[in-house]
Amino acid sequence: MSMKLDILVIGAHADDAEIGMSGTIAKQAAAGYKVGIIDLTEAELSSNGNVELRKEEAAAASQVLGLSYRSNLGLPDRGLAATPDNVAVVTAAIRSCSPGIVFAPYWEDRHPDHIAASKLVEEAVFNAKLRRYMPEIPSIPAPDLYFYFINDWRTPDLLVDVTGFYPLKEQALACYRSQFGQAAAPGEDVAPTPLNQGYVERVKARDALLGQRKLIPYAEGFAVKSPYLIELFGSSST
Ligand SMILES: [Zn+2]
Repeated sequence: MSMKLDILVIGAHADDAEIGMSGTIAKQAAAGYKVGIIDLTEAELSSNGNVELRKEEAAAASQVLGLSYRSNLGLPDRGLAATPDNVAVVTAAIRSCSPGIVFAPYWEDRHPDHIAASKLVEEAVFNAKLRRYMPEIPSIPAPDLYFYFINDWRTPDLLVDVTGFYPLKEQALACYRSQFGQAAAPGEDVAPTPLNQGYVERVKARDALLGQRKLIPYAEGFAVKSPYLIELFGSSST
């Protein structure tokens, strides 16, 4: 597979990208940009649902969001350390999409796999531009790297107004019934997890609080590690 994406969002599990930034994804896709998601694992250790169901849910959410591309790298759940092998797999995947921007999970989170994924993607983004690393797959210009929030968050460096796309975010999250849904019937085998105890309402509350900083109903926030280059008034002409 080789294609040119404008935006590539990478998560540890299908639903990470949707929790953090599906409003932004839907907004950019609707504006005509090519947006893709790579899920690093099949979430085979999740307490609820199963790999097959999770794939169906991810496909449904992709449809809702207007994604150009989605793939699953099948790395081991709870095995996302930035080992040379894992970095190589993720680097190859990033090179094959040649994105202008990569989004990774924020580096602090209650789930250790989200932290590991953050580091793994950061290493892979760095390697993607090194022409002498894995020379059999052509290197790419360094994409920008932004971090989206899953469970933990802080005052963001960047905000995107997703108010007009919030219904699509809610629709995308609703596709993951195995993760966010309550037990359908007494006796159904659903373990209580942080995700099925009002989680989507909390995500919505977070996004409303993020929007409050700019007096907009809903925003998604992002963190960056390197300074953001801006042009001040009148400074771009010479
Ligand atoms: Zn996750």
